[in-house]
Amino acid sequence: MDCIFCKIAGGEFGTEFVAQNDHAVAFLDINPQAKVHILVVPKTHTSNVSELEDPQELLGLFELIREVAKTKTDGQFRLQFNTGSREGQSVFHTHAHVLSNQAN
Ligand code: 5GP
Ligand code: ZN
Repeated sequence: MDCIFCKIAGGEFGTEFVAQNDHAVAFLDINPQAKVHILVVPKTHTSNVSELEDPQELLGLFELIREVAKTKTDGQFRLQFNTGSREGQSVFHTHAHVLSNQAN
């Protein structure tokens, strides 16, 4: 499958991870929409958050989201999962946007 976030999560492009755990990786968005704009991406491919059913995967993803929000923002942030092209999704591998106007 030709999925850019599978390749990033697998280390193929040498993208620097700002954090990671067993289930997910976090890295800077290439086109930031706020002072802090981090993508948190499960290592296993699903197309969008609606397809992400495995409890351990969900837990791992949300643990990393919380860690990133805590360590990379001042505690005020937005959490966004664009789902479907009409709603702004452009990469069809599940990912959370962590956005904040104040870095930690
Ligand atoms: P979506 O629009 O699907 O919710 O978000 C996809 C995000 O991925 C966009 O904000 C876009 O800037 C980011 N993005 C797309 N390709 C790459 C890439 O190769 N590297 C990084 N770091 N971010 C990417
Ligand atoms: Zn993928």
